[in-house]
Amino acid sequence: MDNQIWQSVIGLEIHMQLNTHSKLFSGAEVSYGGNPNTRACEIDIALPGVLPVLNENAVRMAIAFGLAIDAEIAPVTVFARKNYFYPDLPKGYQISQYERPIVSGGSVPISLTDGTQRKILLERAHLEEDAGKLIHDSSGKTSCVDLNRAGTTLIEIVSKPVINNAEEAIAYMKQIYAIGCYLEICDGNMQEGSMRCDANVSIKRRDDTNLGVRTEIKNLNSFRFVEKAIHYEINRQITVLEEGGTIRQETRLYDSELDETRVLRSKEEAEDYRYFPEPDLLPVEIPAEWITEVRKNLPELQHLRRERFVKDYVLSVQDAEQLTQSKATADYFEACLKIVRLEPKLVANWIITQLNTLLKRDSVLISESPIAPERFAKLIERVADNTVSAKNAKEVLALMWTQPQSADEIIEKQGFKQISDTSQLDAIVDQVLADNPEQVAQYLSGKDKVFTYFVGQAMKASKGQGNPAQLSQLLKARLEKSKLA
Ligand code: ADP
Ligand code: MG
Repeated sequence: MDNQIWQSVIGLEIHMQLNTHSKLFSGAEVSYGGNPNTRACEIDIALPGVLPVLNENAVRMAIAFGLAIDAEIAPVTVFARKNYFYPDLPKGYQISQYERPIVSGGSVPISLTDGTQRKILLERAHLEEDAGKLIHDSSGKTSCVDLNRAGTTLIEIVSKPVINNAEEAIAYMKQIYAIGCYLEICDGNMQEGSMRCDANVSIKRRDDTNLGVRTEIKNLNSFRFVEKAIHYEINRQITVLEEGGTIRQETRLYDSELDETRVLRSKEEAEDYRYFPEPDLLPVEIPAEWITEVRKNLPELQHLRRERFVKDYVLSVQDAEQLTQSKATADYFEACLKIVRLEPKLVANWIITQLNTLLKRDSVLISESPIAPERFAKLIERVADNTVSAKNAKEVLALMWTQPQSADEIIEKQGFKQISDTSQLDAIVDQVLADNPEQVAQYLSGKDKVFTYFVGQAMKASKGQGNPAQLSQLLKARLEKSKLA
């Protein structure tokens, strides 16, 4: 928001669920859903006397994240108990990290719609376990505890308070999301809670060097809610301050139905959690070879791939952004280009518009598209060489979606083959001009606009199969000749 007097300051704490096969400190399988309490073992339900065992893969994933954002990886990292009582936390504490988190510092590049590029600095990122879930009975009388999620691996990613508005916050969050997906450490399923965010918001006078008092909006689970909650909270705080009030440090929740934030509780301080090093786990020494090995296997990240797409394929930044937002889409695009020589822009258009529409309609991931890149590229090749008109190609695509045939087979069977044979097209042009003497006279007297009418008639006469560019050319040539005559 643009305000001459007030400057909003935002810091995000993002919880990303890491897709380890088993939990952070137990061997129980991690997968979404399942009957309550069937995916929780002795450790997750906190039976007395059990001991946690650290998941090695989780550590490697955290290292990958740290390297991807150019952060420092701690040579020795320590787990800590964060003590609080809640029914979905049977141990009475969460194993998290406090001092010596695995990842410190680092930054994430963002680009805004007006083209501005910025780097958002990070404070830290640490590993911690998730809690269970409370399921409140609709009668309002009972609550049940499901511990399937308890112990699931999270990485909490904490930004510095350097984000200036909701747009930057969303750009940053999307970039974190893309990093998680590109590294394949997060399945990216927002509906299932793979990424949740706490937004810290404060307001200060623009000329003030100190930060204002912040509120923390808990547990936002979609980009849209983060944006709306931040907007609401900035406006609320400005109103309070302008009316001479003060902001209290508190935890708030966002109500998406009313589109407002409400007080949940006054903010707890670190002291309230009585953090202390987890006595059941040794400090973790991270071997230097792990870091070298993880670094060697880092994929090309989204922002770099986007830049490469712009440069190598001469795409607009927007097209490149759309194609690279998901790694699977970017892979699909590049797979198409490997199959046949095609103009990248044409392939990009067909993926971004036509293919994406079908994927969205049927909620299918592009990696599971019924039309694999091989078949898709062959269709685009037929568009490029004018075998089929763009209009009919859309129908071919729709048929390919439900049938296993190739584009060529469908074009043949449906009689979609575009007529590019000049003698056939010439005959059509003759007919159209002979059938419409009135419009011809109009054109010859200078009414150029009727030209599109001839093209339309010619396309109709060819049952949509005439090559429109060729037909236009022939019509124009013929009419101009008549003009001179
Ligand atoms: P906690 O919320 O657990 O007490 P921190 O004090 O480390 O932890 O802060 C958490 C988040 O709050 C960080 O992302 C940080 O950038 C942000 N933050 C801290 N102070 C402010 C502030 N005055 N305005 C906005 N965000 C802030
Ligand atoms: Mg916090």
